[in-house]
Amino acid sequence: MRARGDGSPGEMTVEHGGGSREPAAQSSWLELSAASLRHNVEVFRALEATGAPARALGAVLKGNAYGHGLEQVLPLVHPLVDILYFITPQDALAVRAFERERKLAPRQVLVIGAISPEEAVALAREGVDAVVADSAWAEAGPRLRAARLQHPLRVHVHIDTGLGREGFTLEQLPRDTGFLTEYRDVFEVTGVLSHFANTEDVTEQAYALAQLEAFEAGTARLVEQLSLKGPLQRHIAASAASLSLPRARYEALRVGISLYGFWPSPETRLSTRLVLGGLPTLKPVLSWRCRSQVVKWLPEGSYVGYGCTYRCPEPTRIAVLPVGYFDGYPRLASGKAHVLVNGRRCPVLGRVMMNHLIVDVTRATADERPLTATLLGHDGGETLPAETLAGWAQTIHYEVVTRLGSHLRRVVVD
Ligand SMILES: *Cc1c(COP(=O)(O)O)cnc(C)c1O
Repeated sequence: MRARGDGSPGEMTVEHGGGSREPAAQSSWLELSAASLRHNVEVFRALEATGAPARALGAVLKGNAYGHGLEQVLPLVHPLVDILYFITPQDALAVRAFERERKLAPRQVLVIGAISPEEAVALAREGVDAVVADSAWAEAGPRLRAARLQHPLRVHVHIDTGLGREGFTLEQLPRDTGFLTEYRDVFEVTGVLSHFANTEDVTEQAYALAQLEAFEAGTARLVEQLSLKGPLQRHIAASAASLSLPRARYEALRVGISLYGFWPSPETRLSTRLVLGGLPTLKPVLSWRCRSQVVKWLPEGSYVGYGCTYRCPEPTRIAVLPVGYFDGYPRLASGKAHVLVNGRRCPVLGRVMMNHLIVDVTRATADERPLTATLLGHDGGETLPAETLAGWAQTIHYEVVTRLGSHLRRVVVD
């Protein structure tokens, strides 16, 4: 729970992905494939069919929908999945506004991040589920009571089974959750959740299995403490466990990265092949493209970019691209990266700048007319995955995509 008076906005209106600010016409843009997104959802629906009980499929839309743009992704996923997961209450409430505007039936919406007592009241009024993850939540009890709600706040109890992040440790259960009994008129416990620490990093899941044991033990303690009778929604599986650890699927899947078409890691790919006996195809939803600002020749011996770190060994046709680290292109990729132009790899020359990239297009084009570069995605027979850009920048694709500027233009294609 987030303490009161921490400067969190009391107001519930939000702007996403550029909001009122018009994206510049001369800038890079993101193309989002609706068909790829539908395909990835189908991959997870097909997993469900292999287990008997009907399982809810949840989409994780935190981080501006993993950088893809919540404003564009929400209308695409809303009809396809059963649950929408967010970090902030603001994003969750924006879904309710979206549903009213479009006259859509409300989906289950769940806030997995920190929530202030004021925000808890707003969520209860809007029928959004919250995650109770620490004893500071006791403070919200009187607050919710004073609000004279028509319905209690639906809450899911977070059990820390070994990630060492939010949630009650087994040690704390049931000692620190007594307030849920005390305020049972305003807290309706409908679910329990946890999060894995390293399902993505290894192919043997001993640690994950220990987490599952802790999850079941913690759940049993809560059920007993709260004398819960109704069915509980248990959810612990993110993308990796959903794919490669069937025992972790329980009642709901919380799928983030793979919904956007990425494997969480090479290890997950290996484990999934073993577990499913084959490898489903995931299709990246996002492509990142940029129109050149100028294309021109530089004579042999010319320097390129800040620090004069690159010198042309021969006459070089360069394209100046109006995209840089401000937009989320990592500066650490300097000296290593390439982009695609006309289906060819073109090296990025010199340093990545705040608003510019310079690429060598000597062999990719025959003249100096404007061109379109692909920074992520397919072009002709070539593909440039986010994992590759992440590797150049010594990070992971999760970070690369979530750092894509919210100011960038996002275009949905089929
Ligand atoms: C981010 C997150 C997920 C989704 O993880 P992916 O690896 O992107 O599928 C699920 N649950 C929690 C608690 C998370 O923070």
